[in-house]
Amino acid sequence: MQQAIEQRKLEQINLFIAGESRASSRGETFEVTNPATKQKLADVASGTEEDAEAAIDAAYEAFPSWSETTAPDRAEILYKVGQLIRENQEELARTVTLEEGKALTEARAEVKQAYNTVMYFAGEGRRMFSNVTPSETKDKLTMTIRRPLGVTAVITPWNFPIMIPFWNLSPALVCGNTVVFKPASFTPITASKYVQLFVRAGLPKGVLNLITGSGGRVGKALVDNNKIRVCAFTGGSELGKEIAQASARCLRKQVLELGGKNPLIVASDADLTVAVGGALWSAFSNAGQKCTAASRIIVEEPILDRFSRAFAEAAGKLVVGNGLEPSTEIGPLISEAALIKTKEYVEIGRKEGAKILAGGSDYKRGPEELQKGNFHQPTVFSGTNSMQTSRDEIFGPITTIIPARNIKDAIEIANDTRYGLASAIYTKDIRNAMRAAYDIDAGVTFLNQGPVGIEVGASFGGVKDSGFGRELGEVGIEDYTEKKTLYLDYSYKTHPIFYPWKK
Ligand code: NDP
Repeated sequence: MQQAIEQRKLEQINLFIAGESRASSRGETFEVTNPATKQKLADVASGTEEDAEAAIDAAYEAFPSWSETTAPDRAEILYKVGQLIRENQEELARTVTLEEGKALTEARAEVKQAYNTVMYFAGEGRRMFSNVTPSETKDKLTMTIRRPLGVTAVITPWNFPIMIPFWNLSPALVCGNTVVFKPASFTPITASKYVQLFVRAGLPKGVLNLITGSGGRVGKALVDNNKIRVCAFTGGSELGKEIAQASARCLRKQVLELGGKNPLIVASDADLTVAVGGALWSAFSNAGQKCTAASRIIVEEPILDRFSRAFAEAAGKLVVGNGLEPSTEIGPLISEAALIKTKEYVEIGRKEGAKILAGGSDYKRGPEELQKGNFHQPTVFSGTNSMQTSRDEIFGPITTIIPARNIKDAIEIANDTRYGLASAIYTKDIRNAMRAAYDIDAGVTFLNQGPVGIEVGASFGGVKDSGFGRELGEVGIEDYTEKKTLYLDYSYKTHPIFYPWKK
């Protein structure tokens, strides 16, 4: 099976606009390679500004009819997409591993999350509640209805190439919006495969358009176009701020899910085995390339040595390799540039005086099968919160253990960052847990779970430089609809404009 995918002919990925597969208007393409082997996987259409405009126009034209389709009928299509994901789960997971690198077990879990998301939002097709409020006058109803907003741009990163797009595509579509979807340039193959699942499920032409190509070109063309009425962007914080400015210029709705430098606190009463396991998974799964990765592990001093030894030992035993190998726990980094960045931060850490407790090297002199790919050892620093390695989002397999005098000190350290996405605390003391829940400045706090494993039923998002707005859960519907207020007067009488006090 693995061989079958590895040897699959070179993929040709096209744009998908108005229900048609199209080459780039300038005939340009770019390559996608497997980060584990550097093997070429696909030639992908490199969209242009004109292509982006054509995709927006197609979505604009499809909007009236799609928004008039009943929400339960729209939801039926999403249910079918869910079924198709289920039927094609293995192929989708293997494609994620091939182009993104993560271990196949993780890729399978990611595909399951996409399934959970589309099924959850399909359910909204029969809910999507709005309000009826008691009126201030007799024989009158005051209520709201929900209306879709129009053309939505969905711009997503490579690290979760199916789960994150589904967080946006599913609510946008069930609410009656049409979409132009721009996946990350490292991972367009998975995107193209599930866009075709929407087509097979019966989504009408123009409702979902796929535009591949450079973010600086087609992504910017989407963001700069006033016909886009919602922009869902997941990516780096600096770019997120630029996109926020563009959205402000035309007063459009937006959801921004950005970077993180996530703290995980280990209290001295924590179950050490559980805390080590949770921290390990959240620091190093997907090679640390997660907006929610536990990249700062803040440990109360009484257990600092014991925790550090156990954690470093466990990190040193993680199996790094090609994600398609069944034994692999940690795959490669997405690109050579990401590997270089990780190595630079190892050097920065060394120079700053951080102590390396585990890892610290790439595999250029390692086993032959790892030399070609972008592999790096899971690396554990012992350092302080003021070090650059504790301040910058490295987005690689590096985490720093930071000592704290007590829980108050740990929470202060946790909050001493420009980011505020995910956070966690391991403790058996409910007082510590609730203090962390209320006092850590973050969109999410995990209690006795590492900061990983977002579920679709609850809202997700960050504070500070980690983002703006929330997605998932019931908020997902707010992002993609606008409430309109209706006053229904069934008295058939003329009322005075002002309502005087009753005498
Ligand atoms: P980037 O910000 O580089 O890119 C994200 C997306 O934006 C890509 O599709 C990219 O296209 C596109 N893009 C690039 N330039 C522009 C532009 N000028 N205008 C519009 N779109 C543009 O992020 P990465 O893909 O490197 O992902 C890593 C980042 O994402 C990290 O900071 C991480 O923390 C964050 N992230 C946040 C999550 C959250 O939920 N908060 C979840 C996952 C990641 P292209 O690929 O062609 O460059």
